[in-house]
Amino acid sequence: MGLNIYNSLSRQLEEFVPLQEGKVLMYSCGPTVYDFFHIGNARTFLVSDIVRRYLEYKGFSVKLVQNLTDIDDKIINRAAELGQDASLLAKSNSEAYFEDSGCLGIRAADVHPRATEHIPEIVDLIQILMDKGAAYAVDGDVYYRVDSFCGYGKLSHRRPEDLLAGARVEVNERKEDARDFDLWKKAKPGEPWWDSPWGKGRPGWHIECSAMAMKHLGETIDIHAGGQDLQFPHHENEIAQSELATGKPFARYWMHVAFLRVNGQRMGKSERNFIFVRDALRDYSAEAIRHFLISAHYRHPLDYSSSSLKESSSAIRRLNNCLDVLKPFQSVTDPSLLDTDTLGEAEVSILDAVQSMRTGFEDAMDADFNTAKAIGEIFKFVGEVNLTLSTAGDNLSDTTKAALGRGYSGLKEKCEVLGIYSELTDSDAANSEMMDQLMKLIIDVRQTARQRKDWDTADKIRDRLKQLNIELQDTRQDVTWKIID
Ligand code: AMP
Ligand code: ZN
Repeated sequence: MGLNIYNSLSRQLEEFVPLQEGKVLMYSCGPTVYDFFHIGNARTFLVSDIVRRYLEYKGFSVKLVQNLTDIDDKIINRAAELGQDASLLAKSNSEAYFEDSGCLGIRAADVHPRATEHIPEIVDLIQILMDKGAAYAVDGDVYYRVDSFCGYGKLSHRRPEDLLAGARVEVNERKEDARDFDLWKKAKPGEPWWDSPWGKGRPGWHIECSAMAMKHLGETIDIHAGGQDLQFPHHENEIAQSELATGKPFARYWMHVAFLRVNGQRMGKSERNFIFVRDALRDYSAEAIRHFLISAHYRHPLDYSSSSLKESSSAIRRLNNCLDVLKPFQSVTDPSLLDTDTLGEAEVSILDAVQSMRTGFEDAMDADFNTAKAIGEIFKFVGEVNLTLSTAGDNLSDTTKAALGRGYSGLKEKCEVLGIYSELTDSDAANSEMMDQLMKLIIDVRQTARQRKDWDTADKIRDRLKQLNIELQDTRQDVTWKIID
């Protein structure tokens, strides 16, 4: 089955076919850097990250561009509140964005263009619109003439009268039509400015994305993504500007991510109900936060609760336990071991589970990136591995080991697409080694107590470990331990 994407433009699931075979041009609207970003923003950025990873998994080469809006009313106002320079505020928040998104495992885009570094391209694009009669200047401000583009409203599926009601129209008698929007804003005293044919000013928000997308990806791109609030007016305006300027379709597939909500309300800065990514990362691992943020399909709203994040943490622990169990077998790579008609029950069930995880995962992701279902397939596999291992006993045959090795690479590959696989860092590995040694010591002490028939001490050790969520398992040969949820 091919990949299907729900295209907001057609409001239908469409088979994904890029313009150039094997190559995908993708643009994702990035943050406005007036503050740190919150886990609601992160949901949208994560979707682009996973779309890109899955496209690569399918063999496409992807060029992803994600802008930084580094000049805007919000930045100017926040800088004034803080008594800071707007460009310094934008610079430090851009650095914070890269730091936090990196910690969350969001891979850097191929290009992160900044609005302030594309003023000539923005001015050129506005000039084209002026020359085509689609823009007009009024005393240093420049507006887009919505009436000049007959396709206006095609993305948000709004009729002209709805557009009027829907536009956040401030009373502005200088506009010919209330729907017209800023392309260039005249600088007020004390505001940052750049020179332009219309006087000192700064670009509007919508034109920056059109200019930067076209500069770095060309006139027609394959996928354009952003949060659902951007569909109108931001993306509608991007289409109007770009398509009128080039006469070509701007983006072929439009993807919009539904909101992360708190008590039914959108998580947002103005709602004051947000959690910064850097704060969430103090309490939860990146993998747990990612697991939570993709636990619903991206077109469905997702409700934040600390209990959901805790559930995600324990799911990731379960996943890591399984990866840890399987990892030692990754080196059993002799394929001929599995190339026989006489496979035992354990390896047959593991190989079946590997195959069904692959099919289930790909079907889910091909169905408009259904990460919720894809995660379900991964955990179904984890359950099957645990069951097989508990019935197989301790003496695993070489073929079983080879099947487990195949299970490890299959599981790791799928987890990497979702970004929920974590390679142990050196310090994690050292801690884990230390933990192993300590547990060995505790188990030895307890075994000595048992040999002396000191049941009180032996039971006390077991109970105290249990309070720490560590469970001892007495087998005939030895004693093992595991962390329980
Ligand atoms: P901003 O920095 O406000 O321009 O937002 C950056 C991105 O985050 C945009 O694509 C927004 O649509 C998206 N976004 C904002 N709030 C949420 C939310 N609560 N859930 C999901 N995406 C959001
Ligand atoms: Zn944008």
